[in-house]
Amino acid sequence: LVSRKKQKEDTVVEVKGVKIGGGEPVLIADPCSVESYEQVRAVALNHKRQGLKLLRGGAFKPRTSPYDFQGLGIEGLKILKRIAGEFDLAVISEIVSPQDIELATEYVDVIQIGARNMQNFELLKAAGSVNHPVLLKRGMSATIQELMFAAEYIVSRGNKQVILCERGIRTYEKATRNTLDISAIPILKQETHLPVLADVTHATGRRDLLLPTAKAALAAGADGVMVEVHPDPAVALSDANQQMDLGQFNDFLSELQASGLLK
Ligand code: PEP
Ligand code: MN
Repeated sequence: LVSRKKQKEDTVVEVKGVKIGGGEPVLIADPCSVESYEQVRAVALNHKRQGLKLLRGGAFKPRTSPYDFQGLGIEGLKILKRIAGEFDLAVISEIVSPQDIELATEYVDVIQIGARNMQNFELLKAAGSVNHPVLLKRGMSATIQELMFAAEYIVSRGNKQVILCERGIRTYEKATRNTLDISAIPILKQETHLPVLADVTHATGRRDLLLPTAKAALAAGADGVMVEVHPDPAVALSDANQQMDLGQFNDFLSELQASGLLK
């Protein structure tokens, strides 16, 4: 069902008036974790000033270590919803268990399924059973075909609003956190009709590489890029090394716009 052979036209996922896929690329920016109302509000206020509509934030955080900050959970979703209302933004947040999918639809505009859960088939089935857009990230060791099958799980349950996201894969290279698989973007665009995003923050794990990799992803045909922004990255409870502060983010945005790759 996700194949181009089944559907020639691009799937366009509309989120609060923003079209993802088939047209102008979008920029999604967010604090990695929702830590407090004030922290998310600072990012949301900047979004509003910059004319950005899509705010992502992690409430349920799938952390590698059980001793790391696990996220605010439902409290985090409540903060996101409140801020989205104040600034008229659309909210994207990761859900990690099938039981929370139904509940999540009351709080978020897009349900994210993260890399670690790309093959959590019960979660995929649950996401396929709601009428809500789903942002599906590629597993860190998943092939392109496995990502397509994961999307098929969702679409075959009746939910056609799926957005794919390349976020870097595991290789032997240590200079970056993961290796951005740039060729996955045109391959997914050719093989499927779904929108394709590139998360350059998790792909590189390096603030200094966000601009060149975002340009590369857009030049390769991505329908949008995702980056992480925090009012004070040094004190962030997750991904402190790779998030931009607001000044860096605004420079990043204007350089991307100056390149002509993003409106
Ligand atoms: C995230 O997007 O917040 C995240 C944890 O990324 P990934 O699932 O790609 O590791
Ligand atoms: Mn992160």
